[in-house]
Amino acid sequence: MTVSRITVIGAGQMGSGIAQVAAQAGLAVFLNDIGQEPLERGMGSIRKNLDRDVEKERRTRDEADAILARITPTTVREAGVDLIIEAVVENEEVKKQLFFELDRIAPESTIFASNTSSIPITKLAAATKRPDRVIGMHFMNPVPVMKLVEVIRGYDTSDATHATIKSLAEAMGKTVATSADYPGFISNRLLMPLINEAAYALMEGVGDKESIDTVMRLGMNHPMGPLTLADFIGLDTCLAIMEILVHGLGDPKYRPCPLLRQLVNAGHLGRKTGRGFYDYSQAG
Ligand code: NAD
Repeated sequence: MTVSRITVIGAGQMGSGIAQVAAQAGLAVFLNDIGQEPLERGMGSIRKNLDRDVEKERRTRDEADAILARITPTTVREAGVDLIIEAVVENEEVKKQLFFELDRIAPESTIFASNTSSIPITKLAAATKRPDRVIGMHFMNPVPVMKLVEVIRGYDTSDATHATIKSLAEAMGKTVATSADYPGFISNRLLMPLINEAAYALMEGVGDKESIDTVMRLGMNHPMGPLTLADFIGLDTCLAIMEILVHGLGDPKYRPCPLLRQLVNAGHLGRKTGRGFYDYSQAG
């Protein structure tokens, strides 16, 4: 199946990036959100990215204008498209309800994709009557820069749906890695236990935070140490994903580190609150 018209639901950090890379690939994009304000913010961030490309001579002004012209911001959910990608808040009930409603109005052939980082695709698919046409399309942040799209096959996702989404992601200039629908998929199944173990190493005094990050940066060639990365992602998000791993897989090796939990309880969620493992306030 060829995808030429898509709707992206949620114009936040991820949805606006997805709309941008889709329009760059020549698709007509409806970018939907619940109000004008998030739509304006989303379009503003796309405009800023494209302006920077023009400044750095990565594309011409005409090309940037043509990309923008392919994106229609709207508060109306346009369901008469080949593909709908949802990038709304990470809340299972909200996403299920959205797919349930879209299932009743979208043409039978429309594929539903979710950008979720942790909610089982199989559960979202079960809220529809088209589980074979529901798939995970997990873009990385920031979407226009990061090369990977982790594609997640739900229990009933068809080979045809997988093939369509894989070639679409490649047309967007991305590389696909396919994961089965198990907790955390591939990305968070590997990343979050690393971050969690770094928190244990800090809690047990194996090393101070700088030493732990330095070992992984300089010794393992990671671009960023795990504690610094956790502060970027948000410690609440890291904790929520560890809870999904420990409950979903039932193995105590995934139990969240008490220090991680304590920082979240204290409201020190990382960069977004000015303090996490590190202190980002001026005094810090
Ligand atoms: P965000 O809060 O920046 O954006 C979410 C947007 O969805 C908001 O603009 C909100 O108004 C809108 N929204 C909420 N409910 C809606 C509805 N019913 N209909 C239309 N719009 C609605 O969030 P984000 O960081 O862009 O994350 C979106 C999704 O992407 C989440 O599932 C998240 O787990 C996933 N994700 C995030 C990252 C990341 O690093 N931020 C990385 C990969 C995946």
